[in-house]
Amino acid sequence: MPETAPTVGFVSLGCPKALTDSELILTQLAAEGYRTSKTYEGADLVIVNTCGFIDAAVQESLDTIGEALAANGKVIVTGCLGAKPATDGGEGAGTLVQQVHPKVLAVTGPHATQEVMDAVHRHVPKPHDPFVDLVPAAGIKLTPKHYAYLKISEGCNHRCTFCIIPSMRGDLVSRPVGDVLGEARALFESGVKELLVVSQDTSAYGVDLKYRTGFWDGKPVKTRLFDLCERLGDMAEAHSAWVRLHYVYPYPHVDEILPLMAGGRILPYLDVPFQHAHPDVLRRMKRPASGERNLERLQRWREICPQIVVRSTFIAGFPGETEAEFEHLLDFLREARIDRAGCFAYSPVEGATANDLPGALPAQEREARRARFMAVAEEVSAAKLQQRIGAEMQVLVDSAPALGRRGGVGRSYADAPEIDGTVRLLPPEKASKTLKVGEFTRARIVAAEGHDLVGVPF
Ligand code: SF4
Repeated sequence: MPETAPTVGFVSLGCPKALTDSELILTQLAAEGYRTSKTYEGADLVIVNTCGFIDAAVQESLDTIGEALAANGKVIVTGCLGAKPATDGGEGAGTLVQQVHPKVLAVTGPHATQEVMDAVHRHVPKPHDPFVDLVPAAGIKLTPKHYAYLKISEGCNHRCTFCIIPSMRGDLVSRPVGDVLGEARALFESGVKELLVVSQDTSAYGVDLKYRTGFWDGKPVKTRLFDLCERLGDMAEAHSAWVRLHYVYPYPHVDEILPLMAGGRILPYLDVPFQHAHPDVLRRMKRPASGERNLERLQRWREICPQIVVRSTFIAGFPGETEAEFEHLLDFLREARIDRAGCFAYSPVEGATANDLPGALPAQEREARRARFMAVAEEVSAAKLQQRIGAEMQVLVDSAPALGRRGGVGRSYADAPEIDGTVRLLPPEKASKTLKVGEFTRARIVAAEGHDLVGVPF
C-alpha cells in the first residue's frame, strides 16, 4: 500500500455483532486501498462503531466520540447508538449522537457498511489504484488469528420487553447460506481454529427466508440451522478446528443439533440465554420459547450428549419480580446445573417497554439479588469444575510466552473466549514439548481455581 494512502482511524465498541460490522467496514476500507489505524492522531478521519445497549455503553460511546472529535476533528459514527433518535424530539431532530456532538460528519445505524463507505468517500476520497490483492481472503479480523466470529443473521423477530435491539437492528434478516459457508471456509483456510457462530437468535436462522434452499460448492443446502451446522461441522473436521454456537433458544428443533455435538462435529457447548426461569416473569419479559419446559429439555440434551456444557445469562430484579419468583430462579439454577451462568441486575434501558411495568425494584435490591444469584451460580460451576480434575482435555492455546516452556493459557471446549474461564497451562511434562498460540494441546487437569482449570500439557 503506498505511503500516501489516506489513513482511517477506527474504534470498535460493543458486542461480537458490532465487531463483525467493524470487520466488514475494515475489510472494505482495506480493499479500497485505505490504511487503517487504531489511533486518532495522524488519521485523515476517524470511524467510531458504537454500542447503544445499556446506559453505561451509551455514555462510553458518546465519550469516545468526544475524544475522537477533540483529537482528530473528522468523525463518522456508526453502530447501534447511531440509530437512537435525539431526545429533544420534533421531526428532523436527528439522532442522539448529532444532538450531543453536532460536529460529527455522518451518523449511521448498525450493519451499514455501504453508508459508512459513502460517508468516507465524501470526506476522504478513495485512493487511486487500490492494492486489492493485499486483502486477505478472510478479511481483516479484530480477534486473534486463531478464532473468529461468524455472524449468520442480523436483527430479531422477538420483542423482549427489556431489550431495544429490534428497534435498533430491525427484524431478522438471515444471510444467504452460501455466503455464510463461503466466509467460514475462507476463515478456516486462513488459519482460524475456532469459529464462533453469532446472531441475535441463532436458532431462528432461515425463518425469514422460509428455510430457502441455497447453494454451496454446487450442491443444494437449506438455510436452516441444522443444515448449516452439518456443513460447518464437516469443514471444521477437515481443518481440525472447532465450531461453537452462541445465542441459541431452547426450541424443540435444537434437539436435532445435539447428535452433531455428541459426534464431535460441533463443540458440545450451547450458549442459551434463558434470562429467567419463572413462567410469569418470562411472560412479562416476552421471552422466546418461554413456554418450553427447559429443565426437561436440558435433561434430554444431556441424555443425547452427556458432555454438553451449557452457558446462560439471567436477569435479576426484573420489574415485579417477587421474592418467590426469584427463589424459583435460584432453584432452577441448582437443578439445571448450568455450567456457566452470568447475571445482570435489571437495568432500565431507555426505550425498553419493561420500564413501564409495575413493581420496579430499587437498584439496591436488584443488585442484592444479582449477588445472591452469582453465589449459587459459582457453587454450581465450582462443583462442575472439580469433577474435571484428573480428566484429559483438548486445549486451544491462546497465549504461550517462551514457546510455552513455562506454560501458558488456553481454553477447552467448555470455555468461549472472553466470557468463560480458561485453562492455565503449567510447564509441559516433556521438556521437548512446546506450546504455540492457535494450536491445540492435550492437557491433564490437575486443579480448579475459581472459574478456571489448571492443566499439565502432555
Ligand atoms: S431475543 Fe429478545 S433479547 Fe434477544 S435480541 Fe431479540 S428482543 Fe432482544
